[in-house]
Amino acid sequence: MLTPVVPSIAEVRQLVREARQAGRRVGFVPTMGALHAGHAALIRQARLETDFVVVSIFVNPTQFGPTEDFGKYPRTLEDDRQLCTAVGTDLIFAPDAATMYPPDASTFVEVPALQTGLCGDRRPGHFRGVATVVLKLFNIVAPDVAYFGQKDYQQARLLQQMAEDLNVPTQVVMCPTVRESDGLAMSSRNRYLSPVERGHAVCLIQSLEHAKLMLAAGERHVNLLVRGMVDILEQTPGARIDYVEIRDAKTLQPIGVVERPAVAALAVFLGTTRLIDNLILNP
Ligand code: AMP
Repeated sequence: MLTPVVPSIAEVRQLVREARQAGRRVGFVPTMGALHAGHAALIRQARLETDFVVVSIFVNPTQFGPTEDFGKYPRTLEDDRQLCTAVGTDLIFAPDAATMYPPDASTFVEVPALQTGLCGDRRPGHFRGVATVVLKLFNIVAPDVAYFGQKDYQQARLLQQMAEDLNVPTQVVMCPTVRESDGLAMSSRNRYLSPVERGHAVCLIQSLEHAKLMLAAGERHVNLLVRGMVDILEQTPGARIDYVEIRDAKTLQPIGVVERPAVAALAVFLGTTRLIDNLILNP
């Protein structure tokens, strides 16, 4: 049987309430759909650790900038439903925009310490939209545990902080990045790449792995590590750097030397497609 798709908030609340009354712990995986093996890994982890797994599919307009890809973002609900069913999902919450944002809605959530820098500076308003929609989803689904991917590291850190700061009774878990065989992080946006761009997209993980090797060889100065990463990207035809940074892994504040766990993070355009990736650097 295919996983039921529920567009109504009241109905989701009712089904989750019934699961909870039956003693089941609720796991939640928020997504924008166009599901791939990265999403599947989050759902599998939820399946392992909780008893009632809810996946939301909602392309959230408030996290897209005016010139970004909201209109062309892939919408593949029937395929997504098959994937959710195959990996063991109890319920898909797929609201429409009017359900999530009635015309009179005017409250937004911000996490100033973590929403600036990295993607926050390049995508103004993005994390405000993310934090707002995720808190709304948490209030609707009321999960015990919610699963996010390390692929979007700043997002996962920011949501952990939001849940802590606002006493949200949901544990926010960050799961490892799932990659293609050549190391490219899986992303719904990879389907925008031409075959040539797809070949060049391996430069993101090569650049990150290079930083890891330099660190292992004893280099701890962030400017030199970043220089090495930039060199690799600049040797890749068609790659245009949006940012390359190394920051404290917890606070996401800039650092000069890697003395504690740090995150090497980058965003790179291949043609018009913007890809992001990151690795944790452990000194
Ligand atoms: P999205 O549909 O792109 O908003 O992503 C939904 C969730 O899946 C987010 O928590 C992402 O971080 C996570 N995710 C996306 N791609 C991957 C990946 N390659 N590996 C692990 N998690 C991922």
